[in-house]
Amino acid sequence: MIITIDGPAGAGKSTVAKKLAERLDFLYVDTGAMYRALTLKVMRGGVDFSNIPEIVALARKTKIRLQASALGQSLVTLDNEDVSAAIRDPQVTNAVFNIARVPEIREVMVGWQREYGLSNNIVMEGRDIGTVVFPQAEKKFYLDASVEIRARRRYDELKEKKVTITLIEIIQQIKERDYKDKTRDCGPLKMADDALYIDSSELTVEEVVGIMFNWVNHEKKK
Ligand code: C5P
Repeated sequence: MIITIDGPAGAGKSTVAKKLAERLDFLYVDTGAMYRALTLKVMRGGVDFSNIPEIVALARKTKIRLQASALGQSLVTLDNEDVSAAIRDPQVTNAVFNIARVPEIREVMVGWQREYGLSNNIVMEGRDIGTVVFPQAEKKFYLDASVEIRARRRYDELKEKKVTITLIEIIQQIKERDYKDKTRDCGPLKMADDALYIDSSELTVEEVVGIMFNWVNHEKKK
């Protein structure tokens, strides 16, 4: 069974997808981590973001693995190195767009993502999972929240990590990322026609997971 969760940055996709996967005993797949890991490799290698053939060649020789680690954290490895923290660096976050907008690179990523669905029950989250990667998925969700709420969540997260940034700056960054994700030609962020829309602005994590779990179970029983 394939469950997809798409939505904008900060809507809470990772948190709820992880919990839903745990509850269903499904594999959790964070596709944003894949785009981030490749971006990190390109940055480290000093490859120009405009050099698409080189980046595609690099992608084909890259091994990105997503695993659950102890304490329920997800572990992301890039060519066997743990990059779980490095891919969350704001510099990487701001650069992912350069990779995510290129059709040839998305093609490679989508291929990897589909492989996960071949032999696993999965909860996969991203931007184009219900529309492009698995349009035939049994259950699809589009998780949203207001820009202000998403920015506040991100602000609290960064404050905990002692990153100095203002709420206004985060609102700006989120709006910019939303715009870029929604308007790119290839694999834009878009709600699938058959997805269930959930606005998490006024809901707790447990409430969102509960809505998803009930809908999946209801569907399983049909
Ligand atoms: O989900 P996360 O914020 O980690 O994703 C980082 C970036 O990767 C997004 O802003 C988006 O540009 C890109 N992405 C994508 N397609 C996906 C997942 C992420 O383009 N399926």
